Order: sequence, then C-alpha cells, then structure tokens
Amino acid sequence: MSRQPAIGPDAAPGVPAVEVRDLHVSLDRTPILAGVDLTVAAGEWVTVIGPNGAGKSTLLRAVGGLLPAPGAITLFGTPSAALRRRDRARVVATVAQSPVVPPGMSVLDYVLLGRTPYIPPLGRESAADVDAVDEVLDRLDLTGFHRRELATLSGGERQRVFLARALAQGATLLLLDEPTSALDIGHQQEVLELVDQLRREHGLTVLATMHDLSVAGEYADRMVMLAAGRVVASGTPREVLTEHLLATHYRASVRVVDGAHGPLVVPVRPR
Ligand code: ADP
Ligand code: MG
Repeated sequence: MSRQPAIGPDAAPGVPAVEVRDLHVSLDRTPILAGVDLTVAAGEWVTVIGPNGAGKSTLLRAVGGLLPAPGAITLFGTPSAALRRRDRARVVATVAQSPVVPPGMSVLDYVLLGRTPYIPPLGRESAADVDAVDEVLDRLDLTGFHRRELATLSGGERQRVFLARALAQGATLLLLDEPTSALDIGHQQEVLELVDQLRREHGLTVLATMHDLSVAGEYADRMVMLAAGRVVASGTPREVLTEHLLATHYRASVRVVDGAHGPLVVPVRPR
C-alpha cells in the first residue's frame, strides 16, 4: 500500500512550500531558465509574470516535477527528485496552460483522474473518491455536469473542470498556469476568488502565472518577474508592477495607478 508522504504544510512550521535554488533548464539544448531562485512560503500566493517566452510555464513544469531539475527544487522540505510520482501528486497539483482534453471523456471521469494517487494500482475508485469529486464539482458550480462530455463545454466551464481535477487531487500546493486566460472577467473573478477562499480555508499554497497584471497584483502576496529565463524583480505587487520595470522588460507603455487591492496597470498608447 502506498503510504501518505511525510510532507505537506504541517511537516514543520516555517518550512517553505517551494524552494527553488539556482534552477537551470535547457530544452533542445537551448537554455530556457538560468539560475532561477524562488521561495514560496506555505499558505502564500506567489504569481510569476513576464513577457511571452520568458520561461514561466517552464518554471511551473519544473516545480511540478514534469521536467528534471536535479537538486534545485525542494517541496515542503523534501527534495522534489526524491518524491515518488504518486507521493508528489498528493502534494502538488498542476493546472496546465492548455491541458489535453481526452476525446469522449465525461466531466466525472476527467475529474476522477485527480483521484489517481489515492486509487491502488489496478484498483477502482472508491465511494470516498466519488464523494470527493462530487464535493469539488459542487464548489465549482458544476453540479449536474457529471455526465457532460468535456469537449461540449464552454471555455469557462472547461477551465473550471480543469481546476476541479486539481482540487480533487487533494494537494496542498496548486500550480496554476494562466488559469483564467480563457475566461470572461466574471468567471475570472469567480475562479480566483474561489482559489483564494480555498487557500484561506484549507491553507493551500498557490504558485501561479498570469497575464493580466492588474488581476495578478490583486491576488498575489508576492510577485516574481521573469525575463529571458532570469528573475529580474521580486517583491510585493507594488514593488514589481512599476512603470519602469514594465517598460524595461515588456517594452510596454503603461500607467500604474493605486487600486483598493494593489496597483492597477493601465496600458497607454505610446505617443
Ligand atoms: P512562457 O510561459 O513564459 O511564455 P515558456 O516557459 O512556455 O514561456 O517558454 C520559454 C521558452 O522556451 C520559449 O522561448 C519557448 O519557445 C521555449 N521552449 C518551450 N518548450 C521548448 C522545447 N520543448 N524545446 C525548445 N524550446 C522550448
Ligand atoms: Mg506560458
């Protein structure tokens, strides 16, 4: 039988959920990440921003164990490379930027995939697994969607199903790669508020990437800006979302104004 991993938010107080030290990743012999350092405290929400191609998705994939990163990544005090796949899946759940949608699969079967780390090899899901899935579908306003085929859902509904699968996994660290880019602003807020509520109620830790900088700043405790595979700024949203940094690394002309929950970034047409 697979035992519970001796890691998680309760492993030891003060131990960070994620610690990345001097991470280098090359893909097809091209350096993509060069010397990235990143710490996410347990219960914290950290959002990685940066222009297209900066390496944000690659960083999340490495933290999620989808890319080899020997020695560079520690999850709740345990070297990521030492974790077995099933054990890692109980600790960290990923919502990829564009998840593959298996043809013909129902919402229920897709979300049940999140329970795989709890189902014995060659076994079937238990009533507890189905209950866990029901609860998550209810929370995400997807009651009644169980039998719907994933391919027939709207972009927003599908995005909530992707999130449901990650939540059904019961992991305490959520890696969200542009989780709301397919959503209208109403659903975007709904999903982010829900993630934040789960974070407060269940002590989840969130490491996300997001394109909408104002929204990113409203939800993150801290932000990290990547450019060309390197960390170029990190700190509070107010420290990272500056007109100067956005002009330098995004080549964007913006005004940053104060909002109730953090700075708001307004694109301004260059003169
Ligand atoms: P971001 O998420 O910040 O837009 P990515 O992490 O997806 O950036 O990609 C970073 C860089 O790595 C991009 O230049 C991309 O083209 C490159 N890249 C991604 N995957 C591969 C791969 N398999 N082989 C070579 N280069 C890749
Ligand atoms: Mg990306």
